[in-house]
Amino acid sequence: MITARFTARCWGCHSLILDGDAIEREAETGQWVHLDCLPLSQHPDADDPNREVCPVCHTVRTVTGACMCDEEA
Ligand SMILES: [Zn+2]
Ligand SMILES: [Zn+2]
Repeated sequence: MITARFTARCWGCHSLILDGDAIEREAETGQWVHLDCLPLSQHPDADDPNREVCPVCHTVRTVTGACMCDEEA
């Protein structure tokens, strides 16, 4: 785990990684993700009862209910 010293986009939840957040480099993709969003590969979207997949863009909604539709809006 490292502490973010920059702003980036989390590969797991697609939310912003902010300066000071606990982050980790995801092994398979090499992308930065929040520590809380790992491990990505061991938690397939369909198996997570707390996450809902958007029927439009087929991405898993974040805890706030956001999805890729909101990104593009
Ligand atoms: Zn995240
Ligand atoms: Zn969507």
